[in-house]
Amino acid sequence: AAKAAGKGRYHFYQSHLSDALLVRMSKERALRHAIDMDEFIVHYQPRVGVTSGTLSSMEALVRWEHPERGTVCPAEFIDLAEDIGLVVPLGELVINKVCAQLAQWRSQGLDLVPVSINVSPQQLKNGHVSASIASCIAQHGLDASLIEVEITETAVIDNSQTVSRELAELRRLGITLMIDDFGTGHSSLAQLHRIDVDVLKVDQEFTRALCEGVEGYTVFRAIVSMAAALDMCVVAEGVETPEQLHALRALSCDEIQGHFISKAIAANEISRIMRQPRSLLPLPHEPMHGVGGA
Ligand code: C2E
Ligand code: MG
Ligand code: MG
Ligand code: MG
Repeated sequence: AAKAAGKGRYHFYQSHLSDALLVRMSKERALRHAIDMDEFIVHYQPRVGVTSGTLSSMEALVRWEHPERGTVCPAEFIDLAEDIGLVVPLGELVINKVCAQLAQWRSQGLDLVPVSINVSPQQLKNGHVSASIASCIAQHGLDASLIEVEITETAVIDNSQTVSRELAELRRLGITLMIDDFGTGHSSLAQLHRIDVDVLKVDQEFTRALCEGVEGYTVFRAIVSMAAALDMCVVAEGVETPEQLHALRALSCDEIQGHFISKAIAANEISRIMRQPRSLLPLPHEPMHGVGGA
């Protein structure tokens, strides 16, 4: 009986493994197909000055417009794309769409603001991302200052020649370099200084902790003062409440991004914001529960 049970388990394990493999293969196939079929679009999330509240830049965030499933967020496909090398063609696609969109806004007579593009470690290792961006902005006649590149601390730590050369080349082109999800990785001050980072985007984890106790506030304050010492701007990610905005103002954080201002929205909604420049912060007379009762 023991032998039979063992055997049964063995069979179960085997079929389980191959199921996982089949699922993965079908996901891979679907993703490849989606790239061929051009099923991806880019949404844009505003970033605003902490005091002005006006649009200073925005982040390009890719979405998969699946014919049956509807809009699929990157959490469901970016890691797989990264694993199987598809993040490189996907990244190319995003670069092209962002540049084309900037050119379209310009042709509509709108005042352009920079767009930040998430660049994965694979794209940097691949060694062609700086050339892709350079040729795309040239093709559309865009200034390099309109493109910002978000990289993670993983990419900063990698000091392979290819990655270092790519980062140096982006800097040489005049592209702003930002560290995304800052504080979740293990980059050192020396590394950040060496690659000449312009902006730290502090991970939403720290924004969440900001108003949850003295410690969270102290940590954020330390990041802001470190960034100031290194002549970097600080952006807080994931700002969701007026209390967080209030604390970030007190800390002289430079810019904020998060649902309190706006989630990522379609390009035509961004056009509307560009057409009537104004503060995107909720007006003081609008109900903001719990804000420091003066
Ligand atoms: P990320 O670059 O750190 O982008 C911020 C993510 O947080 C976005 O999720 C955004 O929608 C979400 N977010 C913004 N504000 C708030 C907030 O107030 N609260 C909460 N809870 N979330 C907020 P999204 O669009 O699902 O993207 C997830 C991640 O996928 C991104 O994290 C980025 O790492 C990756 N990603 C997105 N687009 C691209 C791309 O074009 N290329 C690459 N390589 N990665 C991308
Ligand atoms: Mg990002
Ligand atoms: Mg981030
Ligand atoms: Mg992230």
